[in-house]
Amino acid sequence: MNNPQMYQELLELIGTDSASGKETQIAEKLIAKLKEIGLTVLTDNAGDTFGGECGNVIGIWEGDLDGSLMLSSHMDRVPNGLGIHPVEKDGVLRSDGTTILAADDISGVCAILDGLRRAIGSGKPLPRLEIIFSVGEETGLYGAKALDMSAIRSRIGYIFDSPGSIGRFVNGAPGMFQMEVEITGRPAHAGNEPEKGIDAAHVMCEMISTLKKGRLDPMTTSNFPILSTGSKSCNVVCDFASFRGEARSRDLQKLTDYVTYFEDHCHAVAARYGAGITIEKHQNFLPFLIPEEDEVLVCAKAASAELGLDYRVEVGGGGMDANIYNAQGMATIGVATGYTKNHTKDEQLVLADFLRSGELCAKLIETYAARCGAK
Ligand SMILES: [Zn+2]
Repeated sequence: MNNPQMYQELLELIGTDSASGKETQIAEKLIAKLKEIGLTVLTDNAGDTFGGECGNVIGIWEGDLDGSLMLSSHMDRVPNGLGIHPVEKDGVLRSDGTTILAADDISGVCAILDGLRRAIGSGKPLPRLEIIFSVGEETGLYGAKALDMSAIRSRIGYIFDSPGSIGRFVNGAPGMFQMEVEITGRPAHAGNEPEKGIDAAHVMCEMISTLKKGRLDPMTTSNFPILSTGSKSCNVVCDFASFRGEARSRDLQKLTDYVTYFEDHCHAVAARYGAGITIEKHQNFLPFLIPEEDEVLVCAKAASAELGLDYRVEVGGGGMDANIYNAQGMATIGVATGYTKNHTKDEQLVLADFLRSGELCAKLIETYAARCGAK
């Protein structure tokens, strides 16, 4: 192991319980670590926006150069992330099979801590560094949404929170809408006079079965997996049903077009049966796609080349804090740290990749610093 401190820190933080809205334990450790490295540390009230117990942790290194770089990862993890016992075999870290591993996103946290120690320890002039360890990422990007961007000066940033081997960068992700439909039918005795009822369950099934969904085009998908009815007994025609789901697209126009189609389709089916309908839609986040010539990717490519990494730029399929920051004008991309199968009990982390992610973080800082003038 060529970086025992980084590996020990990984095990320590994986073993520190955390969940969305319950990040206090890990936040306290990260505040202490950032202070020890020499950063000024602030916290905010992001937790209040989603019933969480604490806010984002924000570390600031003032720097000597005229420029500012944001580095981020998230402190929460998906459920089944308490009491994790990691097991190392043949250079790959896994859980003991009963929990997730939480390399998503503890590996990212450790990459940033190691990168900071290397960059600051080098004694070379640095730009301002803004570190954001966010809360509530997995349940809805709540920490990023609540972050006070007026306090953040960086116009570019790296989020160490993408699956895949080192050298992979994620420069685009879909935007997402969530939709919920409520259908009101009319009850009637199922045996005596079913023709007097309006069967809300049937209307719902027809709405879904005739809806365009799944893979809609190379950029757009939708999924409606949650269905329910208000019925408790079989002898009454169903008078209430509801379903919900989501649509995603990397193209905002395609996404909004689909939502319009979805509403028109559901209203038309309801009208055919004389059923009542309400549709609630909520735009969770906007899509983003950063061009290869953008400074954030130019630096990533140069840093990867210097480290001899296999540089790849790909678009991801999930939402991430970067969706929020990009929508607010900070060009932000995802950085892979070596984990795969995240959000499952089979999650694994290739340690050779992980150990290089701290080096990569330091090299990204150094590469960006070389483009900054003196203050
Ligand atoms: Zn993550």
